Amino acid sequence: MNQLTTPTLTEDQARDILNGWAGGGFLRLRNMGDKIFVTRFTPGCAYTIRVHTHYEERKVERVAVPHHGGPIDDHGQVPDLWSVPVPRPREFEDSKEHVPVPHTERVELCSQCAGEGRVVCPTCHGRGQKACPQCNGSGIRHEQVTATERDASGNTRQVSRFVQVRCACGDGQVRCNACSGLGVQTCSQCTGTGRMKVFEQVAVHFKPVVLDELLDVTPVPDRWFRQLSGDTLVNEKSSRVDRFDPVAPDVDRKAGELLTRSHGVDGAQSRIILQTLKVDRVPLNELDYKYAGVERKLWICGQENQIYAPKAPWNRSLFTVLTGVGLLAAGALIAGVVYLLVR
Ligand SMILES: [Zn+2]
Ligand SMILES: [Zn+2]
Ligand SMILES: [Zn+2]
Repeated sequence: MNQLTTPTLTEDQARDILNGWAGGGFLRLRNMGDKIFVTRFTPGCAYTIRVHTHYEERKVERVAVPHHGGPIDDHGQVPDLWSVPVPRPREFEDSKEHVPVPHTERVELCSQCAGEGRVVCPTCHGRGQKACPQCNGSGIRHEQVTATERDASGNTRQVSRFVQVRCACGDGQVRCNACSGLGVQTCSQCTGTGRMKVFEQVAVHFKPVVLDELLDVTPVPDRWFRQLSGDTLVNEKSSRVDRFDPVAPDVDRKAGELLTRSHGVDGAQSRIILQTLKVDRVPLNELDYKYAGVERKLWICGQENQIYAPKAPWNRSLFTVLTGVGLLAAGALIAGVVYLLVR
């Protein structure tokens, strides 16, 4: 906990807050603030430090698309990676862009069809036909037929057996559907043009990253505490935050560490386009107290004066009543069951 420069809670205010808190929970000790013996009241605060950095990451990718004719941009000075203009997203928006690098286009033969625009059909291997699935290519199918027979005593019965019939396909072959019987297919890579346009493009990732730290030595749960509000002491925003007004030595050291970590990127692939540093001071008052002879601790947190009291005493009388009601209900249930059984 750190020293304070702004007015904070007094012990009396803390008792009032506790009374209010105790009244808001079913099992809490009524007027707890008045009933406890305060052994120590330590007004204090915790700090949240948050560095929000918007990075722009770039890399070059080679792209190939079907070439349908038209002009080719292959003349002129090729700009370096970071000179290619890329539209920026909104502040701290996670987004991706792909921008062609000017003057890098060229035309190549399609590698899949060697410039032919069509490839041998992989389903029928160029034959245009394939084995009939009905007869597995034999031209003959086996069909089950049922007939009525009469035995020696003159009784009739149903018998079934298989007979061979000619398949409708005739010779066991049917037309290949994949190529409509042509034996070739349009090349999927060049979509039939036989040529590919190859060029470089810049793949850009605008990536927001948050580094944050809660300077708090108490057992108050961080996740819960982070939702509470305080005073903003530092609120810097620039294309790269390097300096800020000092707050307290350990806060300044931690903020400096987070900034250094955020700046530690490889400049060839990544750079910072926007950064903010925010330091908030959030009230965190510690209260040591005794109740029923037991030493306990609680914390009054945030401008909201939320209470974290993990071992607060219960409302014993209400608890006793509830237990009694529970036992009576259980007794009544058992009595009811017994009555039904012996009736
Ligand atoms: Zn092709
Ligand atoms: Zn085919
Ligand atoms: Zn057939």
